[in-house]
Amino acid sequence: MGSNGQKKDHASELSELTRPLTLPDSASEYSDARYVIFGVPFDGTSSYRKGSRLAPNRLREAYDNLESFDPQYGVDFKESGIHDLGDIIPSEDAETNVNLVETMTGYLRKDGKIPIMLGGEHSITVGAVRTYSDCAMVIIDAHSDFRFEYMGNRYNHACVTRRSLEILGKGRIASVGTRSISREEFESPEFSDVRFISSSYVRENGIEKVAKELKEMFPGKMIYFSIDMDGIDPAYAPAVGTPEPYGLTHFDVRELIKSLSSSIVAFDIVEFTPLYDNGNTAMLAAKLIQDFIGSRH
Ligand code: MN
Ligand code: MN
Repeated sequence: MGSNGQKKDHASELSELTRPLTLPDSASEYSDARYVIFGVPFDGTSSYRKGSRLAPNRLREAYDNLESFDPQYGVDFKESGIHDLGDIIPSEDAETNVNLVETMTGYLRKDGKIPIMLGGEHSITVGAVRTYSDCAMVIIDAHSDFRFEYMGNRYNHACVTRRSLEILGKGRIASVGTRSISREEFESPEFSDVRFISSSYVRENGIEKVAKELKEMFPGKMIYFSIDMDGIDPAYAPAVGTPEPYGLTHFDVRELIKSLSSSIVAFDIVEFTPLYDNGNTAMLAAKLIQDFIGSRH
């Protein structure tokens, strides 16, 4: 009986005419999915340009304009086993969100899924790293994110690599695209426990050499891959919380994903800040998801 006294309501007809905002290629049920997307709309510790809380849905909208088929990989993403859970309900408190993300990724790992987390700001990554504490980590980032604490908060987005080092330990993290490091971070005794690879090094040596070095650094290891969009040059990804010139190219990041994708067990894209976008950053972030999934086929 429908709510207005009719025998039957029209829920199923209405659901055929509408759709919730999920990734357009989210065509699998959770139980069959290989890749599970979820958003974390939180930007509470962003220090400069806020707005990454709006990123998950702007990314989904941009993705809607991409083809589901990519001849480069010979893949139809509708058949790739993608399921989009939507967004978590975030707290105002960064540490609470880190705990939420740990819970989410913990369930996903136990269920044999590959999480693709859409930030939100970079602080949320720490929760996922706790779940993948036996893995190596590759970060794309302009910043070293190596502060012990920032603005009184150990879970500030400027502390992600430092927190991850505490979880993973020495020699297990590489951060690519680095070009912004405070003196305090640079002089910290633990700084050399992370392999920071500057964007200048990538430019001088080529991304293929860097990919080879990373494979040698983490032989046979499962990799957690975190993309802070500001690692990419502002020319390609202008809409980020803390832009920094002289960055990686979009081709560099795609190449690194393709080289490492068979070892990647969890993936995130963070710090995209739609309020500053001309559309290009959203589209690039969406495309990087396709590159990750496509190159694993
Ligand atoms: Mn950054
Ligand atoms: Mn970062």
